[in-house]
Amino acid sequence: MTSAPPLSGPASEVLNRVFGYSAFRGEQQEIIEHLIDGGDALVLMPTGGGKSLCYQIPSLVREGTGIVISPLIALMQDQVDALRQLGVKAGFLNSTQDVSERRRTEQQFVAGELDMLYVAPEGLGVPSTQRLLDQGKIALFAIDEAHCVSQWGHDFRPDYLNLSMLHERWPDVPRIALTATATSATREEIATRLDLVGARHYTASFDRPNIQYRIVGKQEPKRQLLDLLRTEHPGDAGIVYCLSRASVEKTAEFLVQNGIAALPYHAGLDSGTRARNQSRFLREDGLVMVATIAFGMGIDKPDVRFVAHLDLPKSVEGYYQETGRAGRDGQPSTAWLAYGLQDVVQQRKMIETSDGDFAHRRNLAAHLEAMLALCETVQCRRAQLLAYFGQDSSTAFVPGETGCGNCDTCITPPESWDGTVAAQKLLSTVLRLQRERGQKFGAGQSIDILLGKTTEKITQFRHHELSVFGIGSDLREQDWRGVVRQLLAQGLLAVEGEYGTLALTDASSTVLRRERQVMMRREPERTKAPRARRASNSSTAAPAPDLDPAATALFERLRAWRAAAAKETGVPAYVIFHDATLRQIASTKPGSLAELSTISGVGENKLAKYGQQVLEALTTD
Ligand code: ADP
Ligand code: ZN
Repeated sequence: MTSAPPLSGPASEVLNRVFGYSAFRGEQQEIIEHLIDGGDALVLMPTGGGKSLCYQIPSLVREGTGIVISPLIALMQDQVDALRQLGVKAGFLNSTQDVSERRRTEQQFVAGELDMLYVAPEGLGVPSTQRLLDQGKIALFAIDEAHCVSQWGHDFRPDYLNLSMLHERWPDVPRIALTATATSATREEIATRLDLVGARHYTASFDRPNIQYRIVGKQEPKRQLLDLLRTEHPGDAGIVYCLSRASVEKTAEFLVQNGIAALPYHAGLDSGTRARNQSRFLREDGLVMVATIAFGMGIDKPDVRFVAHLDLPKSVEGYYQETGRAGRDGQPSTAWLAYGLQDVVQQRKMIETSDGDFAHRRNLAAHLEAMLALCETVQCRRAQLLAYFGQDSSTAFVPGETGCGNCDTCITPPESWDGTVAAQKLLSTVLRLQRERGQKFGAGQSIDILLGKTTEKITQFRHHELSVFGIGSDLREQDWRGVVRQLLAQGLLAVEGEYGTLALTDASSTVLRRERQVMMRREPERTKAPRARRASNSSTAAPAPDLDPAATALFERLRAWRAAAAKETGVPAYVIFHDATLRQIASTKPGSLAELSTISGVGENKLAKYGQQVLEALTTD
């Protein structure tokens, strides 16, 4: 017997023949076989983990059509196109179709001619759709983006709540629910609401080793972003997240003015513009999408090289989901967040003035707290992220002397310092303003007082007469902003009202009474140059490091061929072949169709369709 038996069985056969892959990843095989045997499954896997195969292969192996429920109507056409490139018979039903197209798809389904059918969740609530499904044979139900059933998340879709009826109406059809949202609370909610309590649960490691996590102090965010793009990601595709529509517009404009191909995306744009920008981002190489969080769910572009946040995300879940859109292809990618005092003030204010009851506000505050803890940690970001999702990081990577080796705190460990005295000075300034003057001010004025600045506002309010005036001149202004930010993050200080004025909390007194030590993260030098990226993290827009010059030339030729083929077929380039596949072709130079077929990502259908063209592109000069 050999130590590694060759893959066998119908699932492996499909993996190999249709998708052109030689091995399953992680728990894919167990999940797929469980479903083929008629079992239900709840699958938690990070973005890029390979969720789609978990329902695509069973749909092909089981008799009948796999019904995929997805909230992402705008992406269904692309998903179906990608499957057709693989030779899979796929169709979709949603509100964007005209009647004749819909009829045709319905007939194909009833006639048993479809392997897979994508349906919008609202469609399933309609009796006519339910009757239609009764007329055909259903292989399975796949509920994609299953976290949309969670009322706490920002992706909540009321139609998802009705999906528990699938089990009642079609009790014998296996169901698989999938999400990249990892907290156990969300998982429980999905299981209960979708009536999947008896399903087998599969939770993959949520580590994304190819993503470098970095959280930097916010000084001039747009400039800092531009630096990042120019020095580390020239010509790369990426997403920049901003909180407001206005900042999306301004940032996109700023990037364009500075020679970066950027497009805006937010809910305030008309749907035509949104669809056009999204389609360009997917189809063209090297575009930067500047967007609110309205953008991104289900975007399966594999070569997004960076995700940048110019504002603080509202929760770790959101942050992880958004940053997870980088590097689905497993290549080195960057998750970069600029974060400053103003973010904390703004978010605290937003929570305080938000609608909703106390429980809702408390929930928002808890999410923010976790996000702030991630920003302020002096420990490994990756370990903290994984811990948040209930995963022991030692199962994901072996923490060496350099930690995970691929986050900012591990690469350049931040210094911490004893900020107890500074905290006391700041808190006592807030206390004195309130006690002695009955006044409340924001961070700016409090810091000016500590620094002993004689501004107009200081003179006007006679703040130079306070005993705390000038007692903080040993620190720089940016250090004081760091002190305020960290006190806010630790709940030792609060912001109030419309103007974000500072106020003491119950916990403040423990610091003022010297009962508690406050450790702080040292603020980096403002002029610090961006850290050089490790060699292994060079971007893929540049030629792959493992290709010699001749192979690099071939790779470029193959990319040019792919761009032309994609244009002709009207699909994104990556739907034809991934960069990784082209790179492997360029370095192994297959001389025949048989040799080409052994390369990962070259399945039966693509071989028949493009094989000859690829061989020609390799030989012609
Ligand atoms: P998810 O939906 O979990 O974000 P996808 O299903 O889009 O991830 O898979 C991410 C990428 O990995 C896709 O390009 C997919 O083709 C590829 N992939 C998935 N499974 C395998 C495998 N077993 N071998 C090679 N590539 C795979
Ligand atoms: Zn780390």
